[in-house]
Amino acid sequence: MAKRIYIAYTGGTIGMLHTGQGYAPAPGFLEKFLRAMPELKDAALPEFVLREYDPLLDSSNMTPREWLDIARDIFDHYDAFDGFVILHGTDTMAYTASALPFLLHGLNKPVILTGSQIPLIELRSDARENIITALLLAANYPIPEVCLYFGNKLLRGCRTAKVNATGFDAFESPNYPPLGNVGIDIHIDWGLTRPAALTPLNPPPTELNATVGALRLFPGFSARLLDNVLQTPLQGLVLEAYGAGNAPNNDHTFLDALAAATQRGVIIVNCTQCLRGTVKLDAYATGTALLRAGVISGADMTPIAALTKLHYLLGSGYTAEETRALMQENLYGELTR
Ligand code: ASP
Repeated sequence: MAKRIYIAYTGGTIGMLHTGQGYAPAPGFLEKFLRAMPELKDAALPEFVLREYDPLLDSSNMTPREWLDIARDIFDHYDAFDGFVILHGTDTMAYTASALPFLLHGLNKPVILTGSQIPLIELRSDARENIITALLLAANYPIPEVCLYFGNKLLRGCRTAKVNATGFDAFESPNYPPLGNVGIDIHIDWGLTRPAALTPLNPPPTELNATVGALRLFPGFSARLLDNVLQTPLQGLVLEAYGAGNAPNNDHTFLDALAAATQRGVIIVNCTQCLRGTVKLDAYATGTALLRAGVISGADMTPIAALTKLHYLLGSGYTAEETRALMQENLYGELTR
């Protein structure tokens, strides 16, 4: 029997047309264009159903509400399809790809996000290859996790970052090797993929009510700025620190602001500004000062994964205590433990 894939088309450059004010999503256009492409009628490709979201969004307009809508859409169609392709803008694709694993506990089918740097309608578009390969992957490679396919690489979703604003190789998973490489052949490294889920897919939460933020340190950073950010109702903060997770230890107002917030129950997670490598808070005195202030290590999570994980844990009812513990555990392959 032919495989069936559900395509959730959320927006993004892939289906955009030129307007007087730059590229913008164009309702009704993408499916017509895809159905007219002879390649998509090839017997090697699966059948697909495409649902166009309303409104189609430039992904810069997305919020956690849209992460939940996508998770709910997958849940509602889970039994009827062999795999899922999410067409998404590239700007915040890594955020959605990082959030979805937390919202799809028990996932046992491939969910593959993709998009393009140039709209499908244009001559030199990268959309055609990205869509065709994402469909083949979702239909024929039963990888039980959320992935991002772009520029010939299949990546673990919760490890991704957009690293190139203009190149076709727009995404990387800097701290985890690609799950698959696509050249003449499609090669999946099954040793790197998640094990099959042991429980059925859980319904995603209906709300994610959390107030979380992220702050990138820079030399000369003022403790007053930090103090302002840490005010109520903030529940969680990703602190993007230097190197192995270091921050100034010669400014007691900075450390006092952190300590006061963690004592109030704010979860402060330390991630490195470096693209690769891991936080090691006991490596330098500038790191141990943070540990003493109650900051926890985000290990080798991307700041994006740490932010979406905080959002999920605090937004779906985990206590501050549980969130502190779970932030330091590997739940869906987002950190190395
Ligand atoms: N601004 C677009 C978006 O994120 C960029 C893209 O899709 O490549 O929706």
